[in-house]
Amino acid sequence: MSGAAYESVIGLEVHVQLATRTKLFCGCLNVYGADANTNVCSVCTGQPGALPVLNGFALELAVRAGLALGCAIASRTKFDRKNYFYPDLPKGYQISQLERPVNGEGSLRFVNEAGEERVVRIARAHLEEDAGKTMHPDGDRSSLVDLNRAGIPLLEIVSAPDLRTPQEAYRYLTELKRRLRYARVSECDMEKGSLRCDANVSIRPAGATELGTRTEIKNLNSFRNVERALAHEIERQTAVVEEGGSVVQETRTWREDEERTETLRSKEEAEDYRYFPDPDLPEFELEEERVDAIRAALPEMPDVKRARYVGSLGIPEATADVLTADRDAAEWFDACVAALPDGGDAKGVANAVTGVVLALANDQGVSIADLRLTPERLVEVVGLVDDGTISRQAARKVIAELDAGDEAPAEVVERLGLAQVSDEDALGATVDEVIAAQEKVVEDYRGGNENALNALVGGVMKATKGKANPQLARELLIRRLGGAGG
Ligand SMILES: [Zn+2]
Repeated sequence: MSGAAYESVIGLEVHVQLATRTKLFCGCLNVYGADANTNVCSVCTGQPGALPVLNGFALELAVRAGLALGCAIASRTKFDRKNYFYPDLPKGYQISQLERPVNGEGSLRFVNEAGEERVVRIARAHLEEDAGKTMHPDGDRSSLVDLNRAGIPLLEIVSAPDLRTPQEAYRYLTELKRRLRYARVSECDMEKGSLRCDANVSIRPAGATELGTRTEIKNLNSFRNVERALAHEIERQTAVVEEGGSVVQETRTWREDEERTETLRSKEEAEDYRYFPDPDLPEFELEEERVDAIRAALPEMPDVKRARYVGSLGIPEATADVLTADRDAAEWFDACVAALPDGGDAKGVANAVTGVVLALANDQGVSIADLRLTPERLVEVVGLVDDGTISRQAARKVIAELDAGDEAPAEVVERLGLAQVSDEDALGATVDEVIAAQEKVVEDYRGGNENALNALVGGVMKATKGKANPQLARELLIRRLGGAGG
């Protein structure tokens, strides 16, 4: 009865690489995929006498992230040296922040898998530099070190142990990434390593307040793997406890191929990094005016947008979710709403954006912002559907044509002859033909099968090459066939 007897306690540590042009303390480029050791200098390779100079834009991005996560921004901040030895760390220490992180406590709000609103506290989000990369080529007795990554700015975002299920962890990460991308802080691309995640997890008797012994899981390369690794680790810990054993505090690694976690290193002794203030980087003040200016430039965050779409525009939650998943899509939709006439059909526009326009952008492999189609044109097309000029089906064709050329919607409708047949006499003849041709379906409908009517409407649409007004076709069919249940 593990499910009910125990609850799990999860905390996540997320590292994101900040989207700066250069590294955190030197002028070397912050780019992905360059030849090994081509973006290095005396500072990021730790040569004696080389002095770090803080990248002001990295600091701005860190503050931007903090504001997007509702963090308290420090009035004074400083850097500390975290000492450890590893071949990919040439200085013998990493410049990080221990005592005065840029961002203090914050919180992230999201809806969990049970549809409940959850608020997860963020303990801190501090700046630090990335380390280099060590590689161990197969069949080679030597190891190689690439220092291109050394000194790239990272923001480490530490959550409080407020997450309770692997699914919540997945949703927390999704919302975190969404916000950081809205704030244009980082690409948050796990495949390129610009977002990395470690997970801490422990179990305890359901309802207990004390924390159990936790393990840390590393090498999680996708949000799905975070979710799966946590589920497996919770299962493993539960089995250990139920067999009378106790969980050992350690670092574990996720073996995706074998679907299990395994010990990486024991963590019985706390690591001592001998932190101390970096004498090369004095403590400094973060002026309130500067923070206010960064706050003022932030876009509306996705949760606020989503609430607005659902609350004041009457858009279904699932559609609002799709619209706000990406900032470009949401802003494109906002431009549509701005172009809508009074009392316009915001819901119809939302459906067209999520159902047609996003697919169009996807097919072309571009951002919605780069389409030739404009929000104003889309609003016109939705207007044509609403006033009965064209069908929804025809609207898809019109939208695709608009993206391929410079015509006005009405011109496309005219050129392709897509105007809907809303004339009863004209449509009546087709309806009669469909009824005559589909005896079996007609019989089903008369026998009480409501779905058969949809098949008949489909027949009329097909016969008219999508030009029939489906509402009218339906009415005519019901009238001729004696109506549902009548
Ligand atoms: Zn450098």
